[in-house]
Amino acid sequence: MNSVPAPVSPGAKINLLDFDREALQAFFGEIGEKPFRAVQVIQWIHQRGVSDFAAMTDLSKPLRARLQETCEVRPPEIAYQQASKDGTRKWLLQVDPRNRIETVFIPEEGRGTLCISSQVGCALNCSFCSTAQQGFNRNLGVAEIVGQLWAARRELGEERKITNVVLMGMGEPLLNFAHVVSAMRLMTDDFAYGLSRRRVTLSTSGIVPAIDRLREVIDVSLAISLHAPTDALRDQLVPINKKYPLRALLAACKRYAGTENRRKVTFEYVMLDSVNDTPAHAKALVRLLSGIPSKINLIPFNSYPNTPYRCSSEDVIERFSALLQQAGLITTIRKTRGSDIDAACGQLIGKVSARDPRKFRLQAVGS
Ligand code: SAH
Repeated sequence: MNSVPAPVSPGAKINLLDFDREALQAFFGEIGEKPFRAVQVIQWIHQRGVSDFAAMTDLSKPLRARLQETCEVRPPEIAYQQASKDGTRKWLLQVDPRNRIETVFIPEEGRGTLCISSQVGCALNCSFCSTAQQGFNRNLGVAEIVGQLWAARRELGEERKITNVVLMGMGEPLLNFAHVVSAMRLMTDDFAYGLSRRRVTLSTSGIVPAIDRLREVIDVSLAISLHAPTDALRDQLVPINKKYPLRALLAACKRYAGTENRRKVTFEYVMLDSVNDTPAHAKALVRLLSGIPSKINLIPFNSYPNTPYRCSSEDVIERFSALLQQAGLITTIRKTRGSDIDAACGQLIGKVSARDPRKFRLQAVGS
C-alpha cells in the first residue's frame, strides 16, 4: 500500500496522485529529499488543486525543476459531462484508452456528496445492478480513485463544496483494498482533503475478511448493501452472500461498529417490487438487525434496460419504512437525484471494454 510505484515504462513520469502522505514521504526519502517536502507537495496538490510544480513556490527551484522532469499530477481526463436540473453533476472520466468510469456530485442543503468508483466494472454479479451486466475489467489505481475527487473539485470551483465522499459508484471497493485505503487516507488527511472520517463512506456488498481488515487500518463510515433479510433471498440478489452469509456479515458489522463509540453501520436496501418489500421482509429485517447500531437507507430501485425488476410503489416503500421506524430503526428513503441525466444509482452509463461477453447485452454502468 505504501510502496513506491515504479514508472510504467522507462521515461514515463511518476504520477504523484498515486501516493498517500506516507508513500510520498517514502518516495522523497528515496530520491534524497527531506520527508517534510512531501507534506508541502501534498498540500499543493490536494488542498490547493495545483498540478504545476513551477507554482509550488515554497519548494526550492532545483526541487521544482526535478519534480517537473520526473513527476506529474495527472487525474483521469474528463471525456464528457452533464448537469441535471436539480444541480447534480456527472462526469464521464477516461481512465485509459479503453475504459471510462463515472463520478457524480449530488448537492444538498448544507452538504455536497461526491459518489466515486473504485473499479472498472464489477465481478460480483448482483442480480439487480447494471454494473454487473458488463463484468469486471480492472481495479482503479490510487490516482484514478482520488483523482475523481481532485478533478471534481477543480470542475466545481468555488461554486460548490464537496463535504462528503461515498464509494458507491462502480465496483466493489473492498476487492481493491490497498488502492481504496490509500485514496481514503488522502481524503481524510488534514494536509490533503481533510474530510471528517464520518463523511467518507465505503459501501460494500459484504466481503467479510476485508471489513475486519478495514477496521484495523482506517476508521471511515461503513455501508453494507444488504437488500435482503434472509440468506435464501440474499443468495439470489447478492451472490457473494453464498460465500459470506448474513451471520458472518452481521458479526463483522458488529465488530466494526464496536470500534468507535458504537458507530452506526448503514444498511442499504434496494426496494424491489414483490421481491423484498413485504411487511414480512420488514419484520425479518428488524429481527436481523436487533443489537446492531444501525441506520437503514431504503433505495428506490432505478430501472435500466432488460432488467426483470421493478421498483416498489411509493406506498409500499412508505409502509416498509414505517414498520422499521416503529421498531426503533433509524430509516431514511434515498431521494432519487439526477435521473434526467441518467446519474441516479444504477443508471450510470460508461463505456467499458469488459472481457465478459455480457457487455454486448448492456452498456450501462450502475452506481
Ligand atoms: N459494490 C459496492 C459499491 C456499490 S454501491 C456495494 O455493493 O455496496 C451502489 C449501491 O447502489 C449499492 O447498494 C447497490 O446495491 C445499489 N444499486 C445497484 N444497482 C441499483 C439500481 N439499479 N437501483 C438502485 N440501487 C442500485
